[in-house]
Amino acid sequence: MSLVSIAREGSIAVVTIDNPPVNALGQALRQQLWDAVAALDADAAVQAVLLICAGRTFIAGADVSEFGKPPVAPHLPDVVARIEAAAKPWVAAIHGAALGGGFEVALGCRFRLALDSASVGLPEVGLGIVPGAGGTVRTPRVAGVAAAVDLVTGGKPLRAAKAQALGLIDAVVSGDLRAAAIAFAQEAIGKPLPLPASARPVVAPEAGFWDDQQAAITKRAKGEVAPLHALACLRKATEVPFAEAMAFERETFLALRGSDQAAALRHVFFAERAAPRPAHLGAAQPLPLRAAAVIGGGTMGAGIAAALRDAGLPVTLIERDAAALERGVTNLRAIFDGAVARGRLTEAQAAERLAGVTASTDYASLAGADLVIEAVFEEIGVKRAVFAQVAAVCRPDAVLATNTSYLDPAAIAQGVPNPARFIGLHFFSPANVMKLLEIVPTPDTSPDVLATGFALAKTLGKIPVQAGICEGFIGNRILKRYRAGAEALVRRGVAIAAVDAAMRGFGFAMGPFEAQDLGGLDIAFLQREAARATGQDVPETLGDLLVRAGRKGQKTGGGWYDYAPGQRKPQPSATVADLLADQIRAEGQMDGPAIAEHLVAEMAAEGQAILAEGIARQPADIDLVEIHGYGFPRWRGGPMFHAQNRAG
Ligand code: NAD
Repeated sequence: MSLVSIAREGSIAVVTIDNPPVNALGQALRQQLWDAVAALDADAAVQAVLLICAGRTFIAGADVSEFGKPPVAPHLPDVVARIEAAAKPWVAAIHGAALGGGFEVALGCRFRLALDSASVGLPEVGLGIVPGAGGTVRTPRVAGVAAAVDLVTGGKPLRAAKAQALGLIDAVVSGDLRAAAIAFAQEAIGKPLPLPASARPVVAPEAGFWDDQQAAITKRAKGEVAPLHALACLRKATEVPFAEAMAFERETFLALRGSDQAAALRHVFFAERAAPRPAHLGAAQPLPLRAAAVIGGGTMGAGIAAALRDAGLPVTLIERDAAALERGVTNLRAIFDGAVARGRLTEAQAAERLAGVTASTDYASLAGADLVIEAVFEEIGVKRAVFAQVAAVCRPDAVLATNTSYLDPAAIAQGVPNPARFIGLHFFSPANVMKLLEIVPTPDTSPDVLATGFALAKTLGKIPVQAGICEGFIGNRILKRYRAGAEALVRRGVAIAAVDAAMRGFGFAMGPFEAQDLGGLDIAFLQREAARATGQDVPETLGDLLVRAGRKGQKTGGGWYDYAPGQRKPQPSATVADLLADQIRAEGQMDGPAIAEHLVAEMAAEGQAILAEGIARQPADIDLVEIHGYGFPRWRGGPMFHAQNRAG
């Protein structure tokens, strides 16, 4: 099949790649590009070559179906070298995204033009590898070492304007890319050409640069190795000749490709790709979402409203009385102000976000909503009363959703006319930031309403995972087991700080105890107390002992740890040691890796139970929940992937 076609515009050859959906660089495309260089070199009438792509993007990267398989010739570094050495100058015309191998091809071209809406980048570290076709060797020659370090070790794409400022793009154009690129190429003909990237000198950075970078990346990567290998490649590119640096990069690329971390990151990549539209949705059609409403403007309601506004949906926010509504609007304003302070929104954008919110205490304002998300107190009576009011005013086809963490959505839906439109949508805090959305259908939820939950996740830029009904759904149920496992270790005599350090060592940003101190121990305590009040046999936890002693976490000056006033640094607490003394048996210590493996095995065991009960549909869903909702290190692939790999 022809993936590359060649047309002529006077003395300019236009090479068009058409390999839907994203012009990925599979073997056939590499071969055809190779052949195109040879054919055009041999064509005396051609003075310059334009490389452009059909469809929605320039070459967006490698062909994912070749991931994990042995590379087949022609290899990409050779194709890029062939383009760079072509007898006529090649001009890359970029729209959409030029990523990974796609950007490396562009770096092999003598000139790069981009539409103003385009982006370029080398995201390979996100897949546990380094660029393998000169990205680490050509980028520092074109943009300087500092910019190359950011681009390659961070993996984040750059917008065209920024890339131009760094010298990675020669010209940014708007409108008709092909016409602009032909004019550019025309202009270049007959003029002295810039040196190819490989022939440009590379300026070594100042003394101490590499050590500083190494320290910063080690801290940030928390055990992820690809960014450090990328740094090593970049350093090599400044210290040895081009060809030697290329060989080093290729060797690193091939070694990392076969690594456990790359396998884990590929697993997550494929799981994320499949998540937005799982096959079991079949032909179900999402309902239109034009206007949304949120009931409750507390922590979650405000965050959910912000997420909906960020996606451009008009939002009606309902609270129980005027004072609570005022607080809800203040919460929402604080979120947008925070975004302004961090440079994520302009003042004008924040004002526009807020202006799109209709705040009211009158349920009648819900009449036009396509979707209503409830985020009121976690009490079934309150939630049922809310839905009775909502159902009385909403259109009968409006989707009604609860953000409950632990209650049974089917029980909340009781009494709602047309329960087929009811669903659980479990957001994570802060709801405008966290990527995970657990979608919890009841036995009555219609397939179209379920599909609407998935469509909403897509609109909000979130990763949806379907969960069945049980206490805590997927994520909070595993969290409970994880915390219980951590407490069990403390009872065996392992130091609280040793558990936290072990989980940080594994790659979490925080261990289980310091995380509880940050979030507050009282929420889980109150939930256990409520269960005890209904006669359930809920054993006393160590956390309960602390809360009963007034230690609810950082907000009370101490929880599992002590905190100096105004400080967030946990200090091991003599008070806690006293409080827990008769609960702890001195059965010996475990080293950090053993602690972490034990607790991750606990998570995976709960995951197995969840799968067996049909609460989760597949192991990868559990991995996505833990990675996007609970800070499980992505490069470990999630607890299920990790456990399976260790089992061999
Ligand atoms: P919150 O106490 O911060 O907010 C609840 C809000 O609901 C309050 O502003 C309250 O005034 C309002 N409210 C109460 N009754 C109402 C009524 N009848 N009509 C309108 N508004 C009413 O609580 P939260 O942390 O935002 O939790 C809300 C829900 O989200 C709970 O079901 C909780 O389990 C769930 N949830 C919480 C988290 C979290 O991390 N906090 C995460 C996921 C889900």
